[in-house]
Amino acid sequence: MRLRFAPSPTGYLHVGGARTALFNWLLARQAGGAFVLRVEDTDRDRSRPEHVDAILGGLSWLGIDWDEGPVFQADGLARHRRDAERLLDAGRAYRDFTAREDFERARDAAVAAGTGTVARLAREMAAGVSPEESRRRAEAGEPFAVRFLVPPGTTEWRDLVHGPTRFDNGEIDDFVILRSDGTPTYNLAVVSDDVAMAVTHVVRGDDHISNTPKQILLYEALGAPVPAFGHLPLILGPDGKRLSKRHGARAVEAFEAEGVLPDAMVNFLALLGWSPGTDEELLSRDDLIERFSLERVLKKGAVFDAAKLFWMNGQYIARMEAGEVAAALRGVLGPDAIPLDDAAFERMAAALAPRSRTFAEMARLARPYVAPLEGYDAKAARKSWYRDRAGTVELLRAVLGRLGGAAWEAEPLEAALRGLAAERGVGAGKVFQPLRLALTGLPASPGIFDVLLILGRERSLGRVERAIEHIEGGGAGEG
Ligand code: GLU
Repeated sequence: MRLRFAPSPTGYLHVGGARTALFNWLLARQAGGAFVLRVEDTDRDRSRPEHVDAILGGLSWLGIDWDEGPVFQADGLARHRRDAERLLDAGRAYRDFTAREDFERARDAAVAAGTGTVARLAREMAAGVSPEESRRRAEAGEPFAVRFLVPPGTTEWRDLVHGPTRFDNGEIDDFVILRSDGTPTYNLAVVSDDVAMAVTHVVRGDDHISNTPKQILLYEALGAPVPAFGHLPLILGPDGKRLSKRHGARAVEAFEAEGVLPDAMVNFLALLGWSPGTDEELLSRDDLIERFSLERVLKKGAVFDAAKLFWMNGQYIARMEAGEVAAALRGVLGPDAIPLDDAAFERMAAALAPRSRTFAEMARLARPYVAPLEGYDAKAARKSWYRDRAGTVELLRAVLGRLGGAAWEAEPLEAALRGLAAERGVGAGKVFQPLRLALTGLPASPGIFDVLLILGRERSLGRVERAIEHIEGGGAGEG
């Protein structure tokens, strides 16, 4: 099997393109076939080298590697022209000298008259030009487009996703294959390249389904074997409309920047239109390679639900080794992060992992430990400090005394704080909540003993002292 991914470098790698690449890659890896990358850069106005880099970078980040390429479509221009000439010579295509405006005017008139001959209009308009005259005018330098002469009949294929599919050729225009400036159109370039690359399976988005009969006709006219075709369902937003900017990020890069893991992204993309036939949702790359099949691809739209991606990513983070989580977290913390010793850093990573759906989120949750405290959550301060300022100050002083005398390890710290709560006849939360706010500025955090161990003795005691000053000072307008 030889499969290909053929992006146009007119933008970043979006989730639809990434899903197409992934499905081709899974099929190639499953079959031990080849996965070829072809950059369709014939649209000179819209193709940009930075988009090529973004697409290649996105695929590499996802771990979708290619066996051949990237091949650049524009490099095949001479072959595209030769193929158009072969079709001309074989009488399967013709030169169209009609100026575009004249053609458009005639088409509008035919539509207005309802004569129903629009599909064959170009052919009718060219009918007056004999083959000899056509050659003579071309040699004299008159501009022309080359149109494919669509034969009568029907064009059918067994789509790998949709099953038997057929189009009536009578409804297919004699489409242009070579423009008057000598550049090939998409349908000619794609077929010429797929033939040259010996592609056996074309798997791409549903938006190409109406191109497929034209392409099959071109293969046949060129005397080349017709590959198998499979068309993947459109990706929809949660509102059932075609995925667009309104639905938030579509660029794979944006998810990378959010700290999504490539394995989670691959898992998520695989389920965009495919399912393993069970309700399993977490599938490794190897599982996917083994179990993927086009028969289980949906015919109708697949729904892109970013919340599900983030959930899935959280599941992947929760399954990572502690050391890997710590290394990834180090990678996303900025250079100004306050350094922690290794044990404290690993404790922090382990404590935050179950609370984080992405590494960007984990970096935000790590702020209280790796940055100076920015202040105290106002609502939490009203609730657990300011209802009884004097009592809170007295409590935090007692906490300082106990912590100051304890060895800085989980058990003695726990014994000290629980002992304090028990002596006062209050629940542990009455001690932990005011302390948590003093240490992190927030009403929620990992367990209080983890927090103490992550911050260490000096910073913990310093933060409690600062909280006491803050409350005694009137809470700087936060009361
Ligand atoms: N370059 C086309 C696109 O980006 C893909 C062509 C194909 O897969 O046949 O939509």
